[in-house]
Amino acid sequence: MRDNTSQKKTNANKLDAVIEVTGQTIYRARIFNPVSRSEFEDIEDGAIEVDEKGKISKIAKFSEFKDKKAKIIDYRGKIIMPGLIDCHVHLPQYDMVAMDGYELLNWLNEYTFPAERRFESPKLAKDAASRFFHALKANGTTTAAVYNTVHKNATDIAFEEAEKSGLRVFMGKVMMDQNSPDFLQEKTEESLLESEELCKKWHGRDNGRINYAFTPRFAPTCSEKLMEGVADLAKKYNAYIQTHLSENRSELSWVKELFPQSKNYTDVYYNAGILTQKTIMAHSIWVNPSELKLLAQTSTKVAHCASSNFFLKSGIFDLNSTLDAGVDVGLGSDVGGGPNLSLFREMSNACNMSKTRYIQENGSTKNLDSIGAFYLATKGGAKVLSLDKVIGDLTPGKEADFIVVDATLVDPQNGAKNKSGKEILSQLVYRADDRVVFAAYVRGKNIYSVLQNMKN
Ligand SMILES: [Zn+2]
Repeated sequence: MRDNTSQKKTNANKLDAVIEVTGQTIYRARIFNPVSRSEFEDIEDGAIEVDEKGKISKIAKFSEFKDKKAKIIDYRGKIIMPGLIDCHVHLPQYDMVAMDGYELLNWLNEYTFPAERRFESPKLAKDAASRFFHALKANGTTTAAVYNTVHKNATDIAFEEAEKSGLRVFMGKVMMDQNSPDFLQEKTEESLLESEELCKKWHGRDNGRINYAFTPRFAPTCSEKLMEGVADLAKKYNAYIQTHLSENRSELSWVKELFPQSKNYTDVYYNAGILTQKTIMAHSIWVNPSELKLLAQTSTKVAHCASSNFFLKSGIFDLNSTLDAGVDVGLGSDVGGGPNLSLFREMSNACNMSKTRYIQENGSTKNLDSIGAFYLATKGGAKVLSLDKVIGDLTPGKEADFIVVDATLVDPQNGAKNKSGKEILSQLVYRADDRVVFAAYVRGKNIYSVLQNMKN
C-alpha cells in the first residue's frame, strides 16, 4: 500500500541494539516536544524514558540517562515527537478521496452517500476499516476522531478493527433521520437505540483507549428530536459528540430554511443541547462573533480542516478569531473532503490557509507558522479531545503516545548540513507525509514500524 518504503533509510542494526534489563525503556533520538503555539522544546541528543505502564517517566538529554540500567532503543538520526491527533476523519470515505469538481452538498450526493451505502456489506466494512487504521498509523496519527456510516454492524466491525490496531480512537455511527437518501435515512428512535447500544459496548474500552462519540451527521440531516436524544445519551454515558458546523455557504442557507426559529447555525445545536465540553465541531468557518462566543461559553471544541476547506472550496477559516474567542482548536484531515490522511499535509495547509487570511487582511494579523501548526496537531488536538492531561506532549506522567520520524527524507540535502531544530520542523511541516514516519507508539506499545511494514 505504501509506494515509498524503499526511500526510507532504515538501520536494523540500530534497532537490534536493545539491552533487556528492566521494564523501563529509554528511546534515544532528537526530541521535538510542543510547548505552546510559539515554542517547542528541542533536545538534540535526547531521550525519553517510558515505564512498564506505558507512561513517560523522564525526558532529558541522553547524557542524563547514562547511569540508567534500562532497555535502550537507539533512534539516533531520527526525531521523536508526540503522536499526531486527527480530530476529524471519515473512515468510509477513505476509498473515495480526492474526487474533485464539487462543493459540499453535491459532493455528498455524487460520491459520499453512494460510498457509504456500500458499508451494508460486512466484508467491505472489515476490509475498509483494516486498511484505514493501518494507513492512519503509517501516517503517524496515533489518535483519531472517526465517523463511520449509519450502519450499526459496519461501525461495530470498525470498532473491532480499531481495538486491534492499538490506536487511540473516538468513533461513532453516523446518525441521519431526515433529508437524506432513502438508502441511508434512519428512523429517529432506531438511530438513537443503535447508537446507545454501540456506546454501551465500546465507550471506555481498553481503559479509555477506545471511546464512543455520538455522531449526528450535521443539522440538515438531523431532526431536533434526534439531536435532543443525542444530548441526553451523551450526558448519560459521559460520551463524546461530533458533528459539522458552518462549512459551506449553501449549507448555511439550507440550515436557515430548516430551522427558522434558530438565530444561527450554532444556535440550532445549542437549542438541541449538544454544545458540550466533549463536543467536536468540524469546520466552523462561517460563524459570527456571537456564535464563537457561544462555542467558547459551552467549551465546545473545533476541528479545523484546512485541506478539506480548500478542496471543497468551502471557505477560509478564521483561526485567530476562533482562538482569540477562547475556543480550543485541533486539526482534522476530514478525509474524504480532505484528500490526504497525513497530518503533516494538514499542518502545511493550515499554515497556508492562515497565510491566505494574512494576505487578505493586508498583513495586519499574525499567521500560523510551523511551530504553531505542530502545537495544533499535538497538544491542540489533545485539548479538543479533553485528553490534554493524558497525551499531546512528552511531559513525564503522560501516556507514551509518540512517533519516530526521519526528517532527512524531506531535506534535499539529506540532513548533511546542520539545520536548527526550527528549520527541521519547518521542513517537516511543509514537506513531510507518510514517507517520514518510521515508527508509532501508543501507551509505550509499538503499534507500527516501517520495518514490519516492509516485511508484510
Ligand atoms: Zn467531515
